[in-house]
Amino acid sequence: MSIKKGKVQCIDDEILEKLSLKTRNKFLNFNLMSYLKPKHLNFLKQAQKFFETFEKTNHITHNEDFYEWIPEIGKNGYISRLHKFEDIGLNYEPHGMTTEFMRILAMDFFDPQLTMATGATAISVNPILLHHENVEKRLKALKELVTGEKIGCICITEPERGSDAVHMLTTCKEQDDGSFVLNGEKTYQTNGSKANWAVVYAVTEKNNGNTMAQFLVDTSSEGWTAERLNIPWTPRMHVAKESLTNLTVPFDCVLGKPGDGKSHLFEGLNLERLTIVCMNTAEAWNAISHAVIYANMRKQFNKEILKYQGVGFTLADLWAQTMNMTLSTLNVCQMIDEKMEKFGTLPKDFNLALGTTASQLKFLSAKLCERVVYESANLMGGAGVCDNTLMQDLLGITRLQEIGGGTRQIQSYIMSSALRQLFKLL
Ligand SMILES: Cc1cc2nc3c(=O)[nH]c(=O)nc-3n(C[C@H](O)[C@H](O)[C@H](O)COP(=O)(O)OP(=O)(O)OC[C@H]3O[C@@H](n4cnc5c(N)ncnc54)[C@H](O)[C@@H]3O)c2cc1C
Repeated sequence: MSIKKGKVQCIDDEILEKLSLKTRNKFLNFNLMSYLKPKHLNFLKQAQKFFETFEKTNHITHNEDFYEWIPEIGKNGYISRLHKFEDIGLNYEPHGMTTEFMRILAMDFFDPQLTMATGATAISVNPILLHHENVEKRLKALKELVTGEKIGCICITEPERGSDAVHMLTTCKEQDDGSFVLNGEKTYQTNGSKANWAVVYAVTEKNNGNTMAQFLVDTSSEGWTAERLNIPWTPRMHVAKESLTNLTVPFDCVLGKPGDGKSHLFEGLNLERLTIVCMNTAEAWNAISHAVIYANMRKQFNKEILKYQGVGFTLADLWAQTMNMTLSTLNVCQMIDEKMEKFGTLPKDFNLALGTTASQLKFLSAKLCERVVYESANLMGGAGVCDNTLMQDLLGITRLQEIGGGTRQIQSYIMSSALRQLFKLL
């Protein structure tokens, strides 16, 4: 019998069995196998196998506190696959943007809320990797985050400064010994109330982004408090509001001195946004795999509901759009991997163009996953909206995706500014 998350069973045994992680993974693989390089397909299958075994061995119902699973997941190398992580003695193969996409697909099919929370740790890893300068404490934090021993969060948003992240109010003041004292408030940090390490941005002069600095904060330090806030659509994920009160950050945890913070904040943004695109795409596939299996088995009026145009054609439409999004995401991921392999970094012009592309994909994928999940749930009738499957988690999460990582309107603003810039070149 497959896992059940609901209190009262609403879906019959046979269909519930077929909605298992194993069958949904199989459906995804049939869709992707012709387009993936063998190394990526093999990694996807390896990650899927890990999560299938993990789910079975631990009798997981997806009602648990998933933060407790993170050390085991990290030990097996599934927190981030964006890099090889040689600097901390790891040798992840394969790695890169496409591999990260595969990791996200495998993890999302297992547990979407876990995937979103892990995404915040993975994003906090990038600035430390770029700016550790072989400082022992930074390397320690990096290793602990990548291997799942510890949890990370990234603190940009403030109660009064959301979309306008550059004009921060949280201040940092340099001390004689090179340490900094931080004061201010941050809010909506994914993992905030669970995190051991935080990457925090603050300014020496309020509202002046040019004075921004970037810090690695040990959250056990005096002056750090985090209150979990309630996001009802993702009840198992921790999101928090933090107060920084005369919080001292030692010199060896200054990742970017005042003046460097803004460029540090923007340098990783493209890949972070694309990671969200991968997550959105994974959520759409997860919902479609549920709906396709369900519609092929559920009978009404003595026929499988897929055979009615109202169901089959709607599902075909969602499937076509999701495949389209997947192929563009894969294409961008592979272009990034090729550039990284060739140059060791992303060339400036390419990264500039990628900024607009990341916004375009984030804009479309966030809208798409919300619609695909809603429509898939709708096609499953009561079974789509009860708590017997992961559809419930997917419905909640996809309603958040247009907000985090830069809202829909901010993506539109970036794209329309790019259109202005392009026009000026004509
Ligand atoms: C679940 C979740 C997880 C998050 N995780 C993190 C995290 O880990 N770390 C972190 O730092 N932050 C995080 N955030 C915060 C997120 O990045 C912000 O919520 C987002 O940037 C918007 O800021 P805001 O909520 O203050 O809304 P506001 O900026 O106040 O926006 C309100 C509305 O005004 C619109 N708007 C604002 N400015 C413009 C403009 N110039 N043009 C057009 N429309 C505009 C917005 O699009 C939005 O519709 C998270 C948020 C959520 C919901």
